Amino acid sequence: MYRLKVVIIGAGIGGLTAAIALSQSGYEVEVYERAQELRPRGAGISLWSNGVKVLNRFGLGEKIAAIGGQMDYMQYLSTQGEVMNHIQLQPLIDEVGQRPYPVARADLQAMLLEGFGGTVNLGYRCVAVEEHGEQVTAKFENGHEATGDLVIAADGVRSTLREYVLEHKVQPTYRDYVNWNGLVDADEAITPPNTWTIYVGNHQRASMMPVGENRLYFFFDVPLPIGTTAPPDLIRSELAEHFKGWADPVQTLIQRIDPEKTNRLEISDVGPVDRMVRGRVALLGDAAHATCPDLGQGGCQALEDVYMLNHFLVTTNIGVEDALTRYEKARKDRTRSIVEKARNRAEVIHGKDPKITAQWYDQLRQESPSDVTGAIAKTILTGPLH
Ligand SMILES: Cc1cc2nc3c(=O)[nH]c(=O)nc-3n(C[C@H](O)[C@H](O)[C@H](O)COP(=O)(O)OP(=O)(O)OC[C@H]3O[C@@H](n4cnc5c(N)ncnc54)[C@H](O)[C@@H]3O)c2cc1C
Repeated sequence: MYRLKVVIIGAGIGGLTAAIALSQSGYEVEVYERAQELRPRGAGISLWSNGVKVLNRFGLGEKIAAIGGQMDYMQYLSTQGEVMNHIQLQPLIDEVGQRPYPVARADLQAMLLEGFGGTVNLGYRCVAVEEHGEQVTAKFENGHEATGDLVIAADGVRSTLREYVLEHKVQPTYRDYVNWNGLVDADEAITPPNTWTIYVGNHQRASMMPVGENRLYFFFDVPLPIGTTAPPDLIRSELAEHFKGWADPVQTLIQRIDPEKTNRLEISDVGPVDRMVRGRVALLGDAAHATCPDLGQGGCQALEDVYMLNHFLVTTNIGVEDALTRYEKARKDRTRSIVEKARNRAEVIHGKDPKITAQWYDQLRQESPSDVTGAIAKTILTGPLH
C-alpha cells in the first residue's frame, strides 16, 4: 500500500506535534529545522484546555500533566497589590472538560521530541518549495532537497514559505509592547501556590504562573516604541525602572530573575491571512497566524491546526489537495478570529486608548469571577475539540 510522505519544515510546537500526529497515522514523516541546535523560544507557555486536548488525542496527556504546573486560581492585582479579582479555575475546567497546563518550554520541547522519536534534521534552512505533478519538493540552503506528497510549513512568525502560499509578502507587525520572560524558583513571597497572579496598571503587566518542578514562569509587558534594546546586564535595572513603586512581590521577582536567562522581545503578529494552503503546501501555526500572546492561544492554535490537518488527511480519500483545502476551510475563520481577538486584547491591556484600558481596570474590579472564566471558556469552546 502507498504510504504518504510528509515533509515538515520547522521543529517548533507545531512542527513537532504534527510529526507525532502524522507518524501515528502511519505516514512517513521527515522534519527539517534551520537551527543547528534545538532550543525553545521563550521560557514558558500556558497551554489552555483546547491545546491540552490535542496532546491528549495523541497520547501525551499523562506526560503534559506531569510537566505542567498546578493552576487552581487566577488573580488580578493592582500595582499596589490590591486584589481586583480572584478567580477559581475549577468551574472553567468543568465547563471545558480539561485542566490547562502552564509549562516550561524546554520541558514541552523535550516531551514532543521524545513523543516523535524520529530524527529532526538540524541545520536545514528551507529556502523554497516546488510542486511538480503529485509531488512537492522542499529545497534547502545547503543544497539538500526533500520530496514528498505534501509539505507542512511550520516555520514560525518569520516564515519563508508563507510567501509561496499567499503569493505575496506579509511581514509581522510590531504590536507596540515589549515582553520579558523567564523562570524563577516558586516562592510564596512572589505568588501564592497554584495561583496565576497578574499585576496590572500603567498599561503594563507583571505576571507569574506555576510550572512543573516548583518553578514560576514570569513575564513583564511594557508598551515601548519599536527598536529599544537592552543587554542582559541592564535588564534588571530596566525592569526596576518600569515597575518602580509596584507591590513588594513584583520587586522580589525582579531581584530574583536571572538576567542572562531572561528573554526580551518585541511582540509582533501576522495577518490574519486569507489563505493557509496552496496546492500541496500547508501553513501551520505561527507561519499562518502568529498571534499576540495576550490570550495565551498562539501555541494552542498550532495544536488545533495539527488536529484538523491530521483529521482531514486520515479521513479524506479523494486526495491530498482535497484534504488540505478542507483543512484551510476548517481553520481560516477560527484562527482569524483568534488573531483579531488577541490583538484587540493586546491593545486594551497596553493602553492603545487609555480610556478603554481604564475601563478594563474598572471592569476587572467589578465583574464576577464567572465572567472572567466565561470569556476564557468561550475562546476554548469555539474551537474544534468541543
Ligand atoms: C511572549 C510569548 C508568550 C506566548 N505565550 C503563549 C501561551 O501562553 N500560550 C500559547 O498557546 N501560545 C503562546 N505564545 C505563542 C506560541 O509561542 C506560538 O504560537 C508557538 O510557539 C508557535 O509554534 P510554531 O511551531 O508555529 O512556531 P515556532 O515555535 O516559532 O517554530 C518554528 C520553527 O521553524 C524553524 N524555522 C523557521 N524558518 C525555517 C526555515 N526556513 N527552514 C527550517 N526551519 C525554519 C524555527 O527555527 C523554529 O524552530 C506566546 C508567544 C510569545 C512570543
